Amino acid sequence: MSEDAGSRQRLRIGITGAVQGVGFRPFVYRLAKELGIAGLVRNRTDGVEIEIEGDVVSTEAFPEQLKENCPPHCLIREMEVSFLPLAGESEFAILDSEGEGGGHGRAGEVLPDLATCGDCLHEIFDPEDRRYLYPFTNCTQCGPRFSIVQSLPYDRANTTMSGFRMCPDCQAEYDDPADRRFHAQPNACPRCGPRVAFGEETGNDAMESATRAIEAGRIVAVKGVGGFHLFADARSDEVVQRLRERKRRPDKPLAVMFPNLDSVAEHCLLQTIEKEILESVAAPIVLLQRRDSKSLADSLAPGNPRLGVLLPYSPLHHLLMRRLGFPVVATSGNLSDEPICISNEEAQERLSGIADDFLFHDRPIERAVDDSVACVMAGRELSLRRSRGYAPAPIVVPGKLRPVLALGGDLKNAIAVTDGDRIFLSQYHGDLESPLAQDAFRTRTQDLPDLSRARPERVVCDSHPGYHSSASCEDAISVQHHHAHIAACLAENGIDETVLGVAWDGTGYGPDGTIWGGEFLIVNGAEFERFSHLRSFSLPGGERCVREPRRTALGLLHEAGIPVEETTLAAAFTEEELRIVRTSLARKIHSPRTSSAGRLFDGLAALLGIRHRTTFEGQAAMELEFLLPENAGSLGSYVLDSSPGNWFPIIKGCLHDLAEGESAARISARIHHSLVELILQVACEAGQSRVALSGGCFQNRYLTETVIRRLREEGFTPIWHRLVPPNDGGLALGQAYVAGRTVPSTQPGVASEAEGNSPISSM
Ligand code: ZN
Ligand code: ZN
Ligand code: FE
Repeated sequence: MSEDAGSRQRLRIGITGAVQGVGFRPFVYRLAKELGIAGLVRNRTDGVEIEIEGDVVSTEAFPEQLKENCPPHCLIREMEVSFLPLAGESEFAILDSEGEGGGHGRAGEVLPDLATCGDCLHEIFDPEDRRYLYPFTNCTQCGPRFSIVQSLPYDRANTTMSGFRMCPDCQAEYDDPADRRFHAQPNACPRCGPRVAFGEETGNDAMESATRAIEAGRIVAVKGVGGFHLFADARSDEVVQRLRERKRRPDKPLAVMFPNLDSVAEHCLLQTIEKEILESVAAPIVLLQRRDSKSLADSLAPGNPRLGVLLPYSPLHHLLMRRLGFPVVATSGNLSDEPICISNEEAQERLSGIADDFLFHDRPIERAVDDSVACVMAGRELSLRRSRGYAPAPIVVPGKLRPVLALGGDLKNAIAVTDGDRIFLSQYHGDLESPLAQDAFRTRTQDLPDLSRARPERVVCDSHPGYHSSASCEDAISVQHHHAHIAACLAENGIDETVLGVAWDGTGYGPDGTIWGGEFLIVNGAEFERFSHLRSFSLPGGERCVREPRRTALGLLHEAGIPVEETTLAAAFTEEELRIVRTSLARKIHSPRTSSAGRLFDGLAALLGIRHRTTFEGQAAMELEFLLPENAGSLGSYVLDSSPGNWFPIIKGCLHDLAEGESAARISARIHHSLVELILQVACEAGQSRVALSGGCFQNRYLTETVIRRLREEGFTPIWHRLVPPNDGGLALGQAYVAGRTVPSTQPGVASEAEGNSPISSM
């Protein structure tokens, strides 16, 4: 359009993406004012619609400027520009939300909870500001979203803030398009908003008392954004031990909240990218390499060279940490294996045996959202637990999917729903072992479809017949566990081509009735073929092996035909125990077959005498990784034979090294390298140029980074996770991706839309 600048035109700009509740409309308003443009902007369920009218030059510049100067947390996914007839108005207006969806009929996006922004932080520490020391300060750039929203559209009346009436000052900010609190739904101040309480005290007194309790070594349950934390002095071994005892969590690492980045740097090594993740709006727990500092309790993460670190991410946390000035344990407020507490009453009941005191507040939490966990892997972020700050942002995948609801697995549960080319993956939900967790799981299967306005027609679950997540759901489509792992990796990486999938984890149900877990699958979208797998072995006592790697080690020795007497493993059993286990192996009694890579790691760790019994899954394998010496890379590997997936040479090499007096650390390096070469061997045979890595074993940084490097050296393209965990937390994404591509859109026996959004309402 090269007409003279004097001529006018009117454009319609339709935008989809994360553009609601983040100050997008005020930004559009200001931009229009700057350019002297008239028109309007309004939210639609699927995004934002803008109409602009003005001279050609300004209106042409407008879309570009929208993209370039977009506020920090907005994400413009698609922008559609079309011409409209002139309307002749002279002002620019922000209109109320339009109730129903736009032309696409797509679901809107609820934003994740956002960490406190710099402006709000400044206010809460400014004695002149009316929000000085106010723990619930927020604006359109920060504050709770997902944890308080009850339904769409995201308006105050549809959040847990609906019970708080804004004071005139807050209301004025809320109504002023030029204010950064324009339509900030959780907007609040000390006069009109939520309050904290500690016993009989409220406000600053409550904060002060909570601080003094933590200083005195007491364990304080603190209500936060997506649930309760247990706060305790991270410098005191005695306090941390007491917390572990009460929480019944003997060894599993505990996360630590630091007052600020400087204090993190005192205790941990920090790469630039790790700093960025810590300070991001998602503000997850980040696994960092520890320094040799003596001032933190050893019992935080026993024997672990890394520490889970997070920064304060809500004003309440900032205020508390500023007062404390030292690192505290910030672990989720629950008993081990139960869901996190979200209401005051629930916390009082369930945490009374753990916490000495409670710091409550009266802003209700609509749904539990745990802290997320991330680390840096091969130079980029890798999610280990995708929850607060990330969920429920959708993952965009290649191609349109059928509407399905995927239920995930029983461990580290998360669920997913599809909507067109988007998959909404729920927050992390923990294990489904306890009845409490199963209840919460059922609630969530209604919640996610409701909130995303997706309308699933079919339910997808793991093919394991005994999973709680699969039970009582008759008409479900099942997806094999490891197929789902690889599909999750492909989905989030936008891969549509055939790959070799390396799915290594602890346990997954195999269609042949054995336990899979060391799988090499050729995956082509919804299809897969088991190309190869780790050589199978028996698990004497089945499930007991998870807690007793010493049993797994016996299973490995038995398979390889190595007498236990030739090893030091016999010393890990009483004579009677040994007799029983050997009998069950010899007679194949209660000794299921498995190809599990996770168990192989465990068993090797037990064989080296590193750990015979564990208190959480993966503990032995993790300790094998933590042993790796600085110079691991130069220590070589055991020579494999030509039979793919065969670990016999590895176990024989280990025993030989042990007999020679080699250290467990050096042997660990060789085990890691040998397993990497074993993967390379299969990759060469499979001949697929792309190799996707998924499953819990790829949380092992050394293994993953070494495989990635070696695959590249040999000309392969490695594909691994980023936004979605390689562990079972990513399963639902893969299930949705697989089933979403295969299911015919209407099937007999499927709940109709008239019965509500969730086809499993009868669960
Ligand atoms: Zn803010
Ligand atoms: Zn107010
Ligand atoms: Fe798995």
